[in-house]
Amino acid sequence: MDINKIREDFPILSEQVYNRPLVYFDNAATTQKPWPVIHCLEEGYRRHNANVHRGIHFLSQTATEAHEAARARVRDFLHAASAEEIVFTRGTTESVNLVAFSFGETFCREGDEIVVTVMEHHSNIVPWQMLCERRKMHLKVVPMNDRGELLLEEYEKLLTPRTRLVAVAHVSNVLGTVNPVGEMIAAAHRRGIPVFVDGAQAVPHLKVDVQALDADFYAFSAHKVYGPTGLGVLYGKKRWLEQMQPYQGGGEMIDQVRFEKTTYNALPYKFEAGTPDFIGTTALAAALDFVETLGMDCIAEYESQLLHYTEERLSALPGLKIYGQAAHKSAVVSFRMGDIHPYDTGLLLDKLGVAVRTGHHCAQPLMERLGIDSCVRASLSFYNTREETDILCAALERIRKMF
Ligand code: PLP
Repeated sequence: MDINKIREDFPILSEQVYNRPLVYFDNAATTQKPWPVIHCLEEGYRRHNANVHRGIHFLSQTATEAHEAARARVRDFLHAASAEEIVFTRGTTESVNLVAFSFGETFCREGDEIVVTVMEHHSNIVPWQMLCERRKMHLKVVPMNDRGELLLEEYEKLLTPRTRLVAVAHVSNVLGTVNPVGEMIAAAHRRGIPVFVDGAQAVPHLKVDVQALDADFYAFSAHKVYGPTGLGVLYGKKRWLEQMQPYQGGGEMIDQVRFEKTTYNALPYKFEAGTPDFIGTTALAAALDFVETLGMDCIAEYESQLLHYTEERLSALPGLKIYGQAAHKSAVVSFRMGDIHPYDTGLLLDKLGVAVRTGHHCAQPLMERLGIDSCVRASLSFYNTREETDILCAALERIRKMF
């Protein structure tokens, strides 16, 4: 990969902060956008803007075609069996809420159980907790070892005849652990239990094939895979989506509306009430084209080398402790440096031009398991370089000396 050429595709990477070149290591929060995505958004509003599905005029029809072509692009990207299984949402969070509500309404009863893991993002905990409260159900939690790997034997013990669904992150946003979701899905399926996979941190870094995984549901956010904000995807197997209640009511999701009774639209529209983000979906397709042109395998290889280099350099700093040492890790390094509070580290790094994330990373139960309240997270992308890692390490060294 020609990183310098790739970096030219991301205009924000040549910005300065506090008169220093921006070093952007907050990619797990959101990724920067390449020119093709920016152009697509601009062109969409400038030349192609018209509401989809309803209009008979030229612009509406071309906008509809582009929107549906984007759905087909996502189907292809995830290797789903059909475009009917691709639901556009506002993001991973909404995808989880959709399944927690619609699957819950249809399939869950008092005394049933949902299984999540200790390393989930709040958005893959709270919607399930809310379902458990609504239905008087129980939430069970898969533990992990100190390296940040899930304990699969314990996981299997948690699967019972009352388990209605397993919800698990493909990749942890704090530890970077790539969970063995294929194995976990197979174990759940042996007991007839469906699995929801939160792919928010996987899709930007790994090749995902929902059919090979045999995932029942798979969610991701466009903005974390170099696409626009406010847009996400829920993949769901047709046989589940068909049986599930709609999530929200409104236009688009209906077949016939009568005051006596309303019937619902076919998949995937049954789950897409209201005007969709039809400009965003075409920009997401442009983002997926961009990463697939680079090649997901090349991205994974480059990021893995950069991750090893970054971990090696960081662990050489006195007093620095890395959280998350799984055998199979994605491009995230979370750490604390001695007694220096992560907030101070992050604030000073920012002044030195380095953007990282500090705090609990929307994973408070995981923080509790790690025995900390917060940490610093450097999350990498294929547009980051070893030179940027060197800048991060030099800045940390400077901060350490200040304290
Ligand atoms: N799941 C994981 C693992 C995440 O890292 C995030 C965001 O950081 C989310 C879910 C929520 O994504 P969004 O805020 O785009 O809905």
